[in-house]
Amino acid sequence: MAWFKRTRKPFASQADKSSRVPEGLWVKCPTCAQILYNKDLVANMQVCTKCGHHFRMNAAERLTLLFDGAYDIFDAELRSNDPLKFTDTKPYKKRLEAGIKATGLNDAVISATGTLDSIPVSISAMEYSFIGGSMGVVVGESITRAIERALAERRAMIIVCCSGGARMMEGTLSLMQMAKISAALGRLDRAHLPYISVLTDPTTGGVTASYAMLGDLNIAEPKALIGFAGPRVIEQTIKQKLPEGFQRSEFLLKHGMLDAVVPRTEMKQYLATSLRFFLD
Ligand SMILES: [Zn+2]
Repeated sequence: MAWFKRTRKPFASQADKSSRVPEGLWVKCPTCAQILYNKDLVANMQVCTKCGHHFRMNAAERLTLLFDGAYDIFDAELRSNDPLKFTDTKPYKKRLEAGIKATGLNDAVISATGTLDSIPVSISAMEYSFIGGSMGVVVGESITRAIERALAERRAMIIVCCSGGARMMEGTLSLMQMAKISAALGRLDRAHLPYISVLTDPTTGGVTASYAMLGDLNIAEPKALIGFAGPRVIEQTIKQKLPEGFQRSEFLLKHGMLDAVVPRTEMKQYLATSLRFFLD
């Protein structure tokens, strides 16, 4: 039952706002500018029914989409203790509090186990609304434990990436997570258990530079922004104009950085077929 209690929370904030105009009844698609009925959008997994634009999803919705039914959440109580006492334009502590309030989560990931099309899996889904889905000590620890759980219980591992990169407010401690997670994935590989990385919009920085690209399969949703450095930084460095669609899923697939671009509506079936191929 734990999954029920926790998955409700991220949705609650939308319903809480009382207004005379029913809020969120209609949504305008940023790609085709069509006005969509929100219920249709939800029924179609947050994919525009007119043009196929993929709206951003939160971590709980991801898990609901992929698991067959109920799932068990782990390590939800882990919380950053602001080890560097970091302050930029505002104290990191305040950013953490705001993230917790906005998402109902303690950090930018939910790790859970359950079944996907009857296959035992361990899934970590990242939450962009929590400080840009950034990877700090808690994200690193939660994902590492999820991989170790997969290893102990002989489950396949899936990480749904959605991140701005490493969490600079935790300095080098956040960068260490790249190595820690990569080492755990190495152990999973030696145990012949599959790991599939699902890259969603956006996947950038230290996450791209580590586990997002370490899957036995690296698959992305259509038109997702995927990269390490931003386009402006690259243009300034190489002093060249970047081509159209640079750092989008389709471009990366064409240049061999991804194994497939899979629409969200086909994602679960694609994962199930791939996992069976690896496990048989
Ligand atoms: Zn559209």
